[in-house]
Amino acid sequence: MSLSQKNTDVLIVGAGPVGLSLAYELHRHGVSCRIIDQKMAPSETSRALGVFNRTLEVFERMGIAQEITAKTQPVHFLNVYARGEHLMQVSFESRAFETPFTYPVFCPQTHVEEVLRNRLATDIHVEWGVTLEAFEQDATGVTVQLRDTRGDTSELRVSWLAGCDGGHSKVRKDLHLPFTGNSSETWLIADVELDWSLAKDSVYGFFSPLGTVMAYPFPEGKRWRLLNTAAREQTDPASVAQQFTHAIASVYHEEPVHVPEPLWTSVFTIQQRHVPMMRVGHCFVLGDAAHVHSPASGQGMNTGIQDAFNLAWKLALVARNVAEESLLDSYTAERTPIATTVLRGAKGFTLAIGNPTLTMQYVRNIIMKSFFLLKPLRSVLNGQVSKVLSGLSLSYKQSQIVTEDWRVEGINTRNMGGLLSGERLPDIHYGFDNTARLYNLLHSTDHTVLLFAGLQSDETDLLRIRELAEYSAQQQKWLRPVLIAPNPESYDSLKEWSGTTTCILDQYGTLHHRFGAEKQTLYLIRPDGYIGYRNQPATPGNFESYAKHVLGIRATVLV
Ligand SMILES: Cc1cc2nc3c(=O)[nH]c(=O)nc-3n(C[C@H](O)[C@H](O)[C@H](O)COP(=O)(O)OP(=O)(O)OC[C@H]3O[C@@H](n4cnc5c(N)ncnc54)[C@H](O)[C@@H]3O)c2cc1C
Repeated sequence: MSLSQKNTDVLIVGAGPVGLSLAYELHRHGVSCRIIDQKMAPSETSRALGVFNRTLEVFERMGIAQEITAKTQPVHFLNVYARGEHLMQVSFESRAFETPFTYPVFCPQTHVEEVLRNRLATDIHVEWGVTLEAFEQDATGVTVQLRDTRGDTSELRVSWLAGCDGGHSKVRKDLHLPFTGNSSETWLIADVELDWSLAKDSVYGFFSPLGTVMAYPFPEGKRWRLLNTAAREQTDPASVAQQFTHAIASVYHEEPVHVPEPLWTSVFTIQQRHVPMMRVGHCFVLGDAAHVHSPASGQGMNTGIQDAFNLAWKLALVARNVAEESLLDSYTAERTPIATTVLRGAKGFTLAIGNPTLTMQYVRNIIMKSFFLLKPLRSVLNGQVSKVLSGLSLSYKQSQIVTEDWRVEGINTRNMGGLLSGERLPDIHYGFDNTARLYNLLHSTDHTVLLFAGLQSDETDLLRIRELAEYSAQQQKWLRPVLIAPNPESYDSLKEWSGTTTCILDQYGTLHHRFGAEKQTLYLIRPDGYIGYRNQPATPGNFESYAKHVLGIRATVLV
């Protein structure tokens, strides 16, 4: 056995979508990592298909959204058929959330993994055929035992261990983290080539007494994924084809249906479980290692990628000695409740498409039909579905690293105008023809501090905001300031002074109004696009106190 010296900050176990996302993010943040996988090569069969809006926003910040969406199928609707009629249509549109990605897209998990691997390939290679055998942690790091395909073992010392090793996670088990929840229905899925007239911009639900069949489009060709919630014992290709044909044809009468023998099938039992905490000392669990869901709402990969996006910037600040280790506690505090919320949503979807008794099916169909026919109900349903699926409404308002010093009329208040700390930053459009995007002002890896001069700013306010910009510009290890002026006069004054600091004119006050910036105002946007802190009237003292005492930025960094 050989011992590798500690020259790697993070060892990532598992090269699924979550491990690859974490590796890519850490690499972008300048943190050294290795990524291993016990498999000999990447998977060729795809599990996840749905990539939802928030994950697309994350991909945009990672700089890979274009590559991902080049091979995807945008999905606009869910159409449901029952008893030979078109029961309802639900829209997946999420425009209300002010996002560049108004619809989810479908693309195979293998494509997401391939894009990430290709991006990593110039600097980091996945070490295939390497298994995590054992690990032991102490106060300063983790000693890890690895085994390669020849059976040779080696020992490695790292600062941090990230378990992205899937539902059967060894990291989770060896940390003795309980995986509470249950297993429920057994479902059958099959990938097939289908010749039918149904448009590919939709998911279809066929609510048959023989079991609900869901159909999800692949981006390429005539390929569809079919899911049957009443899995039968016979899983040979001919029986599977027959089961699907009968179930769909029993409720969809607009054309003859013939499901051919599948290209691939799998029977699986739904697991809905999660851990109570996602960090133990120098070890973390992410993705399926921390939470597994029913595939009914397609959230597993999406939630896991967002775990990685949440952890990476925190780990980077700690690994680079910019922040205290306590910052890492917020990973578990922020992500564990999200996993619980997502699980609740997935359970709801599982129930909705499951196989209740015939009476319950009858009641369900009547409710769905009423939602479809009555416009106000339809709008509520559309809103709820996009809220749950898109991931855009999730927030960190209860997080211990999220707060504000917000004084209106001399009183400290929360909820008095503007966007709230802990919320996801919406991509507000502003400027002359409303084409400038707020997201384009954000730095891709550092915190961005938005400094508003204030709608009612006078010379003193401008001086104060300059003071804050000067202070922020010195915090180059973690912070980028952006100055926002409400009118040409204040813009000229700030621009003249700003030097290399970005300064923009908010000509119609769109941004000032949305952020409640009557006076000089500061908003701190985290690298993951959430609002971490806000301060009005903004002062360097308040901001420094937040950075030091709440976020845990080291005193030596706050020059
Ligand atoms: C039928 C189906 C449909 C789905 N549809 C969707 C969907 O539409 N949208 C969605 O978001 N999610 C969906 N999911 C869930 C999604 O596939 C998973 O959530 C996702 O794969 C989790 O990624 P991961 O990286 O956490 O784990 P995995 O993809 O399981 O990767 C874990 C990796 O760790 C490796 N590993 C394990 N143990 C070790 C060890 N000891 N040493 C080294 N390597 C190890 C494994 O070989 C594996 O490659 C679906 C799942 C199923 C089953």
